[in-house]
Amino acid sequence: MTTVGSITRQIAALELSAKQNTTANKTRPTHQKQGSGNVSKLLTKFAAPNPPTSKSIKPQASNSSISRLPTAGGQVGGKSTKAPTPLSREATQPAIDIGKYDGGLEIDEENRGKRVYGEAAEDLALDSSVIEHQPTREWHLSDFDIGRPLGKGKFGRVYMVRTKCEPKYILALKTLYKSEIVESRVEKQTRREIEIQQNLRHPHILRLYGYFHDEKRIFLMIEFAGKGELYKQLSKYGCFTEKRSSRYIDQMADALEYLHSKHVIHRDIKPENLLLGINGDLKIGDFGWSVHAPGNRRTTMCGTLDYLPPEMIEGKEHSKEVDLWALGVLTYEFLVGSAPFEERSHNETYKRIMRVDLRIPSRVSPEAADLIVKLLQHEPHHRLPLSEVRKHPWILKYRSRSSNSQPQN
Ligand code: ATP
Ligand code: MG
Repeated sequence: MTTVGSITRQIAALELSAKQNTTANKTRPTHQKQGSGNVSKLLTKFAAPNPPTSKSIKPQASNSSISRLPTAGGQVGGKSTKAPTPLSREATQPAIDIGKYDGGLEIDEENRGKRVYGEAAEDLALDSSVIEHQPTREWHLSDFDIGRPLGKGKFGRVYMVRTKCEPKYILALKTLYKSEIVESRVEKQTRREIEIQQNLRHPHILRLYGYFHDEKRIFLMIEFAGKGELYKQLSKYGCFTEKRSSRYIDQMADALEYLHSKHVIHRDIKPENLLLGINGDLKIGDFGWSVHAPGNRRTTMCGTLDYLPPEMIEGKEHSKEVDLWALGVLTYEFLVGSAPFEERSHNETYKRIMRVDLRIPSRVSPEAADLIVKLLQHEPHHRLPLSEVRKHPWILKYRSRSSNSQPQN
């Protein structure tokens, strides 16, 4: 039986081949270089990730072999010289285990959700097959085999699924109950979150491949994060090693640089919103508080208390530098195991944030401490820019030459 690990290696292989195809030099691939080449063509065509093949499910000896593998549907990652032999699926590809479905969607159907009407219904009639820019094919719930539950979100459950049609893609399918979105008065925000995520293409941001809806629900087809929640890893180990933390912060800075270049401020960076891809790479997975802000500054109070920067506590205008502050908090939390200004009461936490009352334990290396201090600056414009974060000695020290090796604890 094929394991989740092998699927993830598969999808990782897809990413590797994309990088190889698009990166001429030996530096880390940047976001500008993503989204071109054969992989993106395939994704646009099918609006789903690369299918696994019998060959590619086997452990890979080298990256170069991955990029040349043909697929059942034709070519992937490189020019296929031969037309694929029309063998039966069973003969060529072991079934991928997506786990056991618990019947949760039907249980929910009976117990939650009503129809919504009017403007809200219009806002939530979300369908990626009718969007103007690169529409996907039309999707329905019946197009998927439903597997194991992956988690419960605020507005519905998340499942591991596989498309019934060839090539059989593995995805996370997230359900959102429209009436619950309306009750929470976040129709516009939800729509915006989906629109933002749909347009993003970055190796450290979970890809939204498509979405569709029925009377009561919206379904999001999201890249499957094979290694689950980063928060669980942090709870398991207490904190991360310097090497692992540095690699995650490097990936996070890369993703944030991309988001900021698209005028997207994340505003809710914290371990709970980060997932891990199949090869252990960090993936930003939650855009609930993101704001698309070309040029304008926002004054809404949002985000998690421990990660709030001084300007947001004061209700001042804030800009992309809020994400730099949060990156500093995240670096500290990875290395120490708790947030830097954590106190019993909200009031005390606020006070410590406002004073930037930072106490870094001596076990944290001087290089890491230097980065934390440079990010946790009261004045937003004094915070180290992301381009500098990515060149910081603590980041360079642990960045491997091949950008695809996974962080180890
Ligand atoms: P919350 O407010 O609790 O964060 P939410 O509505 O934002 O809920 P998610 O965090 O997206 O929902 O999903 C709930 C859980 O489902 C996650 O914590 C995670 O364990 C799992 N999950 C979500 N998306 C994926 C994915 N793409 N791959 C694997 N697991 C996922
Ligand atoms: Mg979430």
